[in-house]
Amino acid sequence: MDAMGLIIDNPYVKNGKWYKGAFHNHSEVFSVEVCINSMIDAGHDFITMSEHDKNKAECMDFADRAIIIPGFEQGKGENPHVVVINNWHRESRCLVTKTNFQDFINEQVNEGAIVILAHPHWQRENYWPNEYLEELHGYTGIEILNSSIIFSKARYDGEYDYMDIAVDLWDRLLSTGKIVWGFGNDDFHNMKEFNKSFNIVKAEKFTREHIVDAVKKGSFVVSTGGYVEDVTLEGNKIGIWVASSEREKKIYHAIGKKGKLLKESFTRDNYFYYEVDGTESYVRLHVLFESGKALFTQPFFIRKY
Ligand SMILES: [Zn+2]
Ligand SMILES: [Zn+2]
Repeated sequence: MDAMGLIIDNPYVKNGKWYKGAFHNHSEVFSVEVCINSMIDAGHDFITMSEHDKNKAECMDFADRAIIIPGFEQGKGENPHVVVINNWHRESRCLVTKTNFQDFINEQVNEGAIVILAHPHWQRENYWPNEYLEELHGYTGIEILNSSIIFSKARYDGEYDYMDIAVDLWDRLLSTGKIVWGFGNDDFHNMKEFNKSFNIVKAEKFTREHIVDAVKKGSFVVSTGGYVEDVTLEGNKIGIWVASSEREKKIYHAIGKKGKLLKESFTRDNYFYYEVDGTESYVRLHVLFESGKALFTQPFFIRKY
């Protein structure tokens, strides 16, 4: 709150460290051991094996090497999939209506789960039907990046290449006032889909509870390889520090309601900020590194009083 009458909701915890991890992974092709070891070798600090409609209890055997968070993917085939983190209580019925999706979300959230609507543009533009999205509420977020569909061109004969970038849908949902966090997941089924997009969480302590709690608050960024030093709010300035050589140029974007570009900067600086004027509704920052990597912050919601 400040003298201008603005409240800026900062989703990032103040004091903490950044931890890399992935929430949506399958061991259909490789064993759990190969999947988890590959992720640990690639620097993942926390991992969920979210198998379709089953719990992979053996992943907990690796809990001494990384934070293993229970989870699963609800639904297989045509019905929209939901990735559930921090719970192993599955729904045995097939979810097909708005009502049973909402009941499922409510139940999972009440039990402490993180609930992510998976790959929103998979196979078709409205994989998650609009009439569902308008009404569903209370879930944690959506996958703004799902690498299995971005990168597995051969698997789908090119037809769905690049279809599952859902940043457009994210802005649409945020513009209706919904608090929806953006997630980046590999949906790891094979090595082509590995370590392409991930989440970097700022948590006060390196425990499962702190990671889960930070994700629920929106204290994380989505990355395709770029690394973050910090995301800050100082007065009305929403800022990001990136980990990058000063040799590398970065294109920074501040993005507001309906995906509007509020500010752009092309610079070698590792810091960028946007100064809120109160008209934005929400502001999120996006960084595109000259070498091709990207980072997405979560939205800061702006309110007037
Ligand atoms: Zn799926
Ligand atoms: Zn999946």
